Amino acid sequence: MRTKAVIHLDRFKENLASVKARVGGRHICVPVKADAYGHGAVQIAKVSLKEGANCFGVAAVSEGMELRKAGITVPILLFSQPSPDEIQEIVKANITPFVSDAEFAAVLNDGAKAAKTKLQVHIKIDTGMGRLGCLPKNALALASQIEKYSNLKLTGTATHLAVSDSAKIPDIDFTKKQLSRFNKAVNNIRNAGINPGIVHAANSGAVILHPDAWLDMVRPGILLYGYKAAQEFEAPVKQLKKLKKYKAISAEPVMELITTVSFIKKIKKGENVSYGRTWIAREDTNIAVLSIGYADGLVRLAGNSWQAVIGGEAYPLVGRICMDQCCVDIGKKTKVKRWDEAVIFGGSAPSAAELAKAAATIPYEIICGINKRVPRVYKQ
Ligand SMILES: *Cc1c(COP(=O)(O)O)cnc(C)c1O
Repeated sequence: MRTKAVIHLDRFKENLASVKARVGGRHICVPVKADAYGHGAVQIAKVSLKEGANCFGVAAVSEGMELRKAGITVPILLFSQPSPDEIQEIVKANITPFVSDAEFAAVLNDGAKAAKTKLQVHIKIDTGMGRLGCLPKNALALASQIEKYSNLKLTGTATHLAVSDSAKIPDIDFTKKQLSRFNKAVNNIRNAGINPGIVHAANSGAVILHPDAWLDMVRPGILLYGYKAAQEFEAPVKQLKKLKKYKAISAEPVMELITTVSFIKKIKKGENVSYGRTWIAREDTNIAVLSIGYADGLVRLAGNSWQAVIGGEAYPLVGRICMDQCCVDIGKKTKVKRWDEAVIFGGSAPSAAELAKAAATIPYEIICGINKRVPRVYKQ
């Protein structure tokens, strides 16, 4: 196989178990948007359910429909704003949209009425993310409106945190401010005699650093896929006090990206490798051509700043990454053989989080960017 992404489901299960232990009996929503961050939404959803997950989060209606087709019957939350022409499909697939405004609530109610069903919805409140959501002061009005509609049922209330993965004091304070705005808005809804449904706010950062954000349910994505944006022990003292009673969450990267040495050749001192002639050999050496490029999702910025691990040893990626191939310098006397496996990240190589640093991005972008043409190989 030229290139594959090995998905270590055993690690995913351990990560999920670790999060579950951390948040106690709270519900867990597993974000499986973007094909489960590149890991395969259906496979991840199936193991998640076996391990006790309660619901899933998607960004596109098509992602929700894919899960329904695979026989997933638990609630599927639609995190992003759909367009009106998708409402029929939402209703048909029984997907639970986040509602940020009265206008969309009305359109949804009409769609559900036309299909003679009652659609579950969650209210989304913008407490400081500055993206989707109603203002906290308008949350009660939106909840009351939804309550009056005969074809909508309010089953949850949510917000999203902007800096929960940062242990810097101003960011911790901002998260606290978001949570207090959220709690106030939720209390207004409760005090008016309306049940806000399941109340949720915590993404991965908040699962690690903010016990106050766990509420009824948590929605950690990147953490379950094995990347910790923050470490408990680097949190400032006042935060640590609350965290003291918990064991650090263990998160092992679930994806391992492996390609193949497709060709080996000798090159002489002064000769160049790949487009733009950005790398020139300082001495005679051997170059191994690998069967992976930016069309597979190996970011172009990794050229001249990352490595591949072959037979347990790291070799630098030299020259520009091409669409379908890249090159490593394997040295003059080399143990590397044609058709050897070369690990790009995960497994015996550093994780996608390290590659992200080298390529000026975040692990999310690296793992969701692994292209469809790279087969996912599942390990139990
Ligand atoms: C993507 C997403 C999450 C998960 O975020 P992570 O940083 O991966 O934990 C949670 N909630 C919403 C609304 C999201 O869009």
